[in-house]
Amino acid sequence: MNLKAPRGTKDILPPESYLWLEIEQVVDDVARLFGFDEIRTPIFESSALFKRGVGETSDIVSKEMYLFSDKGGEEMALRPELTASVVRSAIEHNLISQQGALQRFYYNSAPMFRYERPQMGRQRQFHQFGVEVLGAASPLADLQTIAFGIAVYNRLGFKNFLLKLNTLGSEGSRTKWRSELVAYLRDNLDALSDDSKRRLEDNPLRVLDSKNPADQVIAAKAPSILDHLDTGDSDHFEELKVLLDAAGIKYEVTPTLVRGLDYYSRTVYELTSSDLGSQDALCGGGRYDGLIKQLGGPETPAVGFAAGVERLVIVLQKMRGAAERPAIDCYIAVQAENARKTLIDLASGIRNAGSSVMYDLQGRSMKAQMRDADRLKSRFVLIIGSDELARGEVTLKNMQTGEQRVLPVAEASNLKLS
Ligand code: AMP
Repeated sequence: MNLKAPRGTKDILPPESYLWLEIEQVVDDVARLFGFDEIRTPIFESSALFKRGVGETSDIVSKEMYLFSDKGGEEMALRPELTASVVRSAIEHNLISQQGALQRFYYNSAPMFRYERPQMGRQRQFHQFGVEVLGAASPLADLQTIAFGIAVYNRLGFKNFLLKLNTLGSEGSRTKWRSELVAYLRDNLDALSDDSKRRLEDNPLRVLDSKNPADQVIAAKAPSILDHLDTGDSDHFEELKVLLDAAGIKYEVTPTLVRGLDYYSRTVYELTSSDLGSQDALCGGGRYDGLIKQLGGPETPAVGFAAGVERLVIVLQKMRGAAERPAIDCYIAVQAENARKTLIDLASGIRNAGSSVMYDLQGRSMKAQMRDADRLKSRFVLIIGSDELARGEVTLKNMQTGEQRVLPVAEASNLKLS
């Protein structure tokens, strides 16, 4: 039988897995700096949550959801995104029930599932980190989510990314704009792609961010939401731009940016990278002031983003070359017979002192052990030779300088080599 990982999924193997660890560490560090709390929710939920939360007409729900009936007959979905789950969880645990309650959540390397056509940067199981700020209507909260994302990319050394910014207005402004947009698209129906013709009926906003060149020509001249904002929406957008300027964050207002999920209101944004191919979005987010109420909670403003980890890994590998296993501090090479107790004591002593230690597990020759130490880029090698061991000593070799010194076993087992 030819067993393979399912199409659109990937095994994350070493040394690439070290990049993942690094990214997860950076996200945790940034979350600590911003004072965000981690949230973890189940990877499957009742499918009704996403149908109601993300919207039946979104591609994610209408085409891409992994659905299954559990043995109790309930229809479940592998989560395609996390915002709906976080909101469900916050309502269920009364985390936003009090007036003025504020939650700043983040999640890290969380697996998501969408039945999409796989290509570079697009998988069926992929991973996201992201934030959700529940309870803040101020554009300062929008800024904070954007600043969080940018802090992660900056810390990882990213250069070529761009913030695309738009507003979808709140319900009133959007309804008016939507009907003008539909009328305009109907007038131009013949020029639209088949996909967009279909979308025109159930999700006309999506026509605006179509990748089809013919659609893009039509989209460029479409009525803009920016001409339909009410005062509240337009103040919010202007204030956010002032805040972004104050924070030194460059952005490009992109009136065709609409995002694929139905729950957004007012601010939407994407960070894109020119180091990615056609799937150039590193992260996407925005404000979803209506979602919490829609899912049965109190009326609560909220804003957040989700960022793809696979795409981050692609850019990092492009910037740095293929991932490498990090060097270890110490390799213990054993020449002497009956040295196992010394080996075990040394290894645990050095590890307890905080340095990494590896040794051979296959009974290989001294030469093979030294080759192993080289391959692992060990900074030091501790040699347990027969003669030295008889005197209660071992040899420490600095692999960078080639320098060697003999020292008592007791001293060696407290070595701090990192
Ligand atoms: P979305 O929830 O669609 O706004 O996606 C947010 C981010 O998750 C995107 O900007 C991508 O970086 C990433 N992403 C979304 N879908 C996929 C996918 N199928 N494969 C890999 N990354 C994805």
